[in-house]
Amino acid sequence: MSDKSVIIIGAGMAGLAAAHELKKAGWAPTVLEARSRVGGRVHTVREFSNGLHAEGGGEYINESQHRMISLAKEFDLQLGRVGTWQNQSGDWAVLEGRAGRLGDASRWGVDLEMENRRVWVALAELGKQVSDPSNPIAAPNAKELDGQDAGSWIQSLKVHPLAKVLFENHIRSEYTCEPGEFSLLDLARNASLYYSDPDAEDPAYRIIGGNDGLPQAIAKRLPDVRLNAVVTSISIKAEEVLVTYKHIDSYHTVRAPYAILATPLTTARMIDFEGTIPSAHQAMVHGISYGSVTKVMIEYRKRFWLDHGWNGRLNTDLPIVFTWDATSHLEGKHGILTAYTGGDPGSQLTRLSDAERIQTAVSAIEEIFPGSSDLIENTQTIAWGNEAFTLGSYMAYAPNEMTAHWQTLFSPAGRLYFAGEHATIYQGFMEGAVESGQRAAKHIIEKVRK
Ligand SMILES: Cc1cc2nc3c(=O)[nH]c(=O)nc-3n(C[C@H](O)[C@H](O)[C@H](O)COP(=O)(O)OP(=O)(O)OC[C@H]3O[C@@H](n4cnc5c(N)ncnc54)[C@H](O)[C@@H]3O)c2cc1C
Repeated sequence: MSDKSVIIIGAGMAGLAAAHELKKAGWAPTVLEARSRVGGRVHTVREFSNGLHAEGGGEYINESQHRMISLAKEFDLQLGRVGTWQNQSGDWAVLEGRAGRLGDASRWGVDLEMENRRVWVALAELGKQVSDPSNPIAAPNAKELDGQDAGSWIQSLKVHPLAKVLFENHIRSEYTCEPGEFSLLDLARNASLYYSDPDAEDPAYRIIGGNDGLPQAIAKRLPDVRLNAVVTSISIKAEEVLVTYKHIDSYHTVRAPYAILATPLTTARMIDFEGTIPSAHQAMVHGISYGSVTKVMIEYRKRFWLDHGWNGRLNTDLPIVFTWDATSHLEGKHGILTAYTGGDPGSQLTRLSDAERIQTAVSAIEEIFPGSSDLIENTQTIAWGNEAFTLGSYMAYAPNEMTAHWQTLFSPAGRLYFAGEHATIYQGFMEGAVESGQRAAKHIIEKVRK
């Protein structure tokens, strides 16, 4: 053990960003990763024809997410533009058995885009209640907001029922939980951070060649990344941290003055802290809720959706909830539609077998475009709740959790620091994972320098 060694648990974007930062500052990070690959929830699926690929996990990198964008540049990776995450022309909806363009008022009997905008204006207004999104618990009515849920808030807006479904699906897709299970304080915090202008646009990108190119490139430059290393216990001592991991069928213990725990909290719950973690941290590790999400990726021999003036983006009350064109940034005849399903529908699809989940998505699209199934070349699926080293989608604060755990999440437990998409103000994003890892590394470097 040298004075400048740090153990990092988890080689997702958070752990790798931390290790990269430490290495650049002359430290010696050791990264322990349970899987046989790096990247964690950044995972490009390549089992398609003609070199096509689709993102099984983290997909969109927004223009405002400058940490991800500058890391991609640092590692010479190109970005492909995919439009905006917000509504685009060519977006479709399938609601109450009707299918069509979101902007086609005659189809819905209501100007759905206008009704939808009412919700986003109300959301911007809600955001004003959290003037500092990096410290939401300081909002004057933080406790009151945290005690409420996003579902009741949507209900209180009294918008057209179809616009209500669209926004409920936004919660299911962005936060991967049910509106009734999502803290209104976190919705307000997110509104303050991202949606203060209902008309603002934030174009998005994917990394050309696959998002997994970034974690792989970072890992390649690191001195010590141990794969298939499942951390089973962490002991935080006064002068050091001891970390035990299982590698195939033997156990090994490593020690360092500091450690960074960059696994999801869902898997941190299974680590034995041997009674050395403060009780507030123990409660935080066990007390923050996670959402549920699945992806089904369907490769078609023809991008038939373009013939219908549909861009592939669909917001629906069918069991799949949302779809998009996963190959919109790539040229080619074949294309991949991804069905992205969060919240209760995501939990339901998680419980199905892979074959049943794929069939559910294929049938939903077949229902809208009869004959589309005949064009299928390949299908793939991931249910993140079934992944042993993820066990969920990402964190989604249920009512009263934010005021209970926010502060602890940002404080180290002695010599153990927390990083990951949960331990950042940019929760649920690759950008947030990177921010948390870089911050943890800087805190350790700074502490020792002092
Ligand atoms: C389906 C899906 C879609 C998404 N879409 C987007 C998007 O469009 N844009 C965006 O910015 N973000 C998106 N995200 C979120 C983004 O992928 C995550 O926020 C980010 O990748 C999390 O990084 P992380 O390092 O915090 O965690 P992870 O990537 O989960 O890394 C943690 C690592 O710890 C390892 N680990 C776990 N337990 C142990 C253990 N006991 N011992 C050792 N190692 C362990 C895991 O194997 C993993 O590699 C999406 C996520 C999902 C699931």
